[in-house]
Amino acid sequence: MKVYVTALGCKLNQSEAESWARGLAAAGFDIVGDPASADLSIVNTCTVTHVAARKSRQRVRQCARANPQANVVVSGCYAEISPIQAARLPGVYWVAGTADKERLVERICASLGLPPPVAPILTERLPGGHTRAFVKIQDGCDNACSYCIVRIARGPQRSRPSQDILDEMLARQAEGYQEAVLTGVHIGAYGRERGETLAGLVRQVLECTQFPRLRLSSIEPWDLTSELLALWENPRLCRHLHLPLQSGCDATLKRMNRRYTTAQYSDLLAAARRAIPDLAVTTDVIIGFPSEDQSEFEASAEFVERMAFARLHVFPFSARQGTAAAGMAARVSARVKKERAARMASIGRRCAALFQRHFLGRTMDVLWESGRSGQWNGLTGNYIRVWVDSPCPLWNRILPARLTEVTQGGMRGELAVTAMPQADDTSVSR
Ligand code: SF4
Repeated sequence: MKVYVTALGCKLNQSEAESWARGLAAAGFDIVGDPASADLSIVNTCTVTHVAARKSRQRVRQCARANPQANVVVSGCYAEISPIQAARLPGVYWVAGTADKERLVERICASLGLPPPVAPILTERLPGGHTRAFVKIQDGCDNACSYCIVRIARGPQRSRPSQDILDEMLARQAEGYQEAVLTGVHIGAYGRERGETLAGLVRQVLECTQFPRLRLSSIEPWDLTSELLALWENPRLCRHLHLPLQSGCDATLKRMNRRYTTAQYSDLLAAARRAIPDLAVTTDVIIGFPSEDQSEFEASAEFVERMAFARLHVFPFSARQGTAAAGMAARVSARVKKERAARMASIGRRCAALFQRHFLGRTMDVLWESGRSGQWNGLTGNYIRVWVDSPCPLWNRILPARLTEVTQGGMRGELAVTAMPQADDTSVSR
C-alpha cells in the first residue's frame, strides 16, 4: 500500500510526520512523495492561527482531490481542536487527535489487519525527507500564555526517555544526517517531571553522538540557564537561538501572561551573546494583541529594533477559541494590524541585513540543502541562508563558502574548497 505523509506548521509536526513515515515504511508500506499515487494520505495539521487552520483544511482537500479513491487521516492540532469540521472534509476516514498520535502507525496497521512494525526507528533515510533530522524530545506545555492554542491542543508537558531519544539520534546519524534539531512544544521543560534538565540531555547527546551539528529549536527565554549556555563551548552546537519575544512592550507581555519583562529579556539576550560568539537570535512577534494601542506598538517596535534580531517572524494576532485572549475586549482592527505587521516586518528585514553584514568576507561552513540549475543554498550554523553557484551536487554536505554579498533573505557567496570531496564524503574539506 502506498502512503503519502505531509505536515504543516512547526518543526515538531514535521518530526512527528517523519517518524510516522518511518514506522509505516518499517511495517512494509511504500512511502510516496505525491498524494496522487497514494492509497492513504496522512496530514499532520496546525491550528496556531486561523490561517494555519485554513491551510490545513486546504491540504486535506488537495490530498482528496489528487486521488478521490484514497483515504485521508487527519491528525495534529487542528484535528484535536476541531474534530467535527475535520471529519467533514472530503476523503477523511479517521480524525486522529493528540491521544492517538503515539500509536498512529499501530492503529493504521491494525485497521488493515497487518502486524505492527518491529523496529520503526531503524530504517533507511526517507526519500524526499528533510536534510536536517528533527527529533522530538518532549510534547505539551504547562505554561498559560493567554493567546496560545498549542498548549490546549497538545496537553500537559511530558518528556521522552533520554535513551529513546539517543537511539533515534543514532539511527539518524547512521542514515547520514549532518545536523539534528531537538524539537518540542516547550523544550526548556525537558525532563522536569523526572528531575532531569534540557542541559543534561544536550550534554548526553553531544557525548553519545557525532553529528557535526546539533541545533535547538525554539526555546522560551526563561529557560536559558547559565548551565545550558555553558554547553556552547562545544562548537558542534549551532550558534543560533530562537527566543520567542511575542511583544517588546511590558504591558502587552503582561496581558499575554508571558513570564518576563523586556528588561529581563534584554539581559538574557546579552548573556547569551556574551557566551556565544557570532550568535544569531531569531524571534516571533505577535502584532495587534487585544488592547495594543499605538504607544504599545511603538514600544514594541523600538525594542525589537534595539535587540537586533537576526530574523523576525511576524504574526498578526489571531483569536483562538478556548484561549484567554479570545475573550479579551478591545480588538485591534484588521487594517491596523496589517499596517503594524508591515512596519514590524520591515524592521525585521533591516535587522537581518545588519546582522548578515557582520559576516561579509567571512568563510563559514554551510550545510547545503537544495539546488536547482547549478545554484545551491543552505544554512550556516548561525542560520544565515547562503546561495552559491556549483556545477557539482552539494546536497547534505557541510562545505565552506566565502560570504560576498547581502541579498534579500540571505547572502550570496562562493564555495571555498580546493577540491570537491567524493559523493559519499560528507566531512568538511577546505
Ligand atoms: S510557552 Fe506559552 S506559547 Fe509556548 S506552548 Fe507554552 S503556553 Fe504556548
